[in-house]
Amino acid sequence: MSALTDLTLAEAARLLAAKKVSATELTQAHVDAIEALASLNAFIVTTPERALADAKRADGRIAAGEAGPLEGIPLAIKDLFCTAGIQTTAASRILGGFVPPYESTVSANLWRDGAVCLGKTNLDEFAMGSSNTTSAYGNVVNPWKRRGDNRDLVPGGSSGGSAAAVAARLCLGATATDTGGSIRQPAAFTGTVGIKPTYGRCSRWGIVAFASSLDQAGPMARTVEDCAILLRSMAGHDPKDSTSADIAVPDFAAALGHGVKGLRIGVPKEYRLEGLSPEIAALWEQGIAWLKEAGCTIHEIGLPHAKYALPAYYIVAPAEASSNLARYDGVRFGLRVPGDSLDAQYEATRGEGFGAEVRRRIMIGTYVLSAGYYDAYYLKAQKVRALIARDFDVAWESVDAILTPATPNAAFAIGENQDDPVTMYLNDIFTVTANLAGLPGIAVPAGLDASGLPLGLQVIGRAFDEETVFRVGRAIEQAAGFTAMPQLRAGA
Ligand code: GLN
Repeated sequence: MSALTDLTLAEAARLLAAKKVSATELTQAHVDAIEALASLNAFIVTTPERALADAKRADGRIAAGEAGPLEGIPLAIKDLFCTAGIQTTAASRILGGFVPPYESTVSANLWRDGAVCLGKTNLDEFAMGSSNTTSAYGNVVNPWKRRGDNRDLVPGGSSGGSAAAVAARLCLGATATDTGGSIRQPAAFTGTVGIKPTYGRCSRWGIVAFASSLDQAGPMARTVEDCAILLRSMAGHDPKDSTSADIAVPDFAAALGHGVKGLRIGVPKEYRLEGLSPEIAALWEQGIAWLKEAGCTIHEIGLPHAKYALPAYYIVAPAEASSNLARYDGVRFGLRVPGDSLDAQYEATRGEGFGAEVRRRIMIGTYVLSAGYYDAYYLKAQKVRALIARDFDVAWESVDAILTPATPNAAFAIGENQDDPVTMYLNDIFTVTANLAGLPGIAVPAGLDASGLPLGLQVIGRAFDEETVFRVGRAIEQAAGFTAMPQLRAGA
């Protein structure tokens, strides 16, 4: 069975179309793999019956010559996307038992194109975190281990379940969301590929909101090509999301054939942080050398306001979260803890329903939006955000894409960084700028650290130019020749 779970999505699609493998066989192999590696805790809910029914329908459509672009491809869905008739929790107790009567646009697009639903993946509660240790449904275990060290590592977050499931070969691809790095950081921690598209590329309709001006859905998979295939299906204008862009969705996978010769690659000097680990610095240099070799020209650029990105993000994101999460009142969704009055019910429900990190964000967000502090914090952060976006506009005058490390470190052990929120927030140092500016960014595995853990590089591009981001990502993927595999995986 391991052969089927080791396929890339593109290979599986070819075998399905050629009728060399059936959707039912392919799905059964993944259902078995999920069961065998349940200890990773990558899924909150598995839907094996639904998956096999989807597969059966896919086999019928393939036989009838009516196959969609993802016909019979088994995928996992981050449990932040509402799925009609399947529990959706955002990894929070407050949504325990919530079964949406509607389907998110992104997941509906995948089913429209023939994909098979394996289940809902674990995440940090309400997508707040970088370690998948804030989930009410328990930690997710990274399928990778440090050499000679059996401790469980985090898969990154918040899309840790999707990342672990892709890396451990429990699915051919997964949906994820990225508000400050939640696709790219877990991709880097698990040796997988993840892209946060341009803000507005994918509809946010039916995705549980964290910070609406930053949230964006995207795919995770094991290759750049697989992400390109998935994004094409996920993306597209949706009248139900007023921030969804009415822009044609290109054939991202076709763009990969164009290579990178002549592309101008920017290297932001501000990202050479003091104290940057020598391993990450060397990987970055390696990436620069690879792209030069592939025919790109390299240009040092300035992103002078990047140093304020993290503090600005940790004001804007909690502010929006505190407003978005006001709807969880014990009346409309999920958990209800009764009290003597309506206020008491709200308090009891929210006190019991939200975990510590979510409560921290609500308090920070409420504080920065409060009358006396709005100008000092929230408004200031919004101004900084505009300056960060302008830095990129200037950069695009001289470069076509920007290369940076994806994360400042490799995966850490479960429990490490746990009692120090600020160290945890530093995980997002290289990723949040793209969210604040609304730009697409991809993380691609590029090497291993001294203990054998994957490290990733990030490529950021112009708004709605995911094609260039994919092309540069592919060049890195080809040069890196990353073939290392996690210790815990299907068939191993
Ligand atoms: N780690 C960041 C946070 O905790 C980003 C999360 C995300 O992108 N959803 O806010």
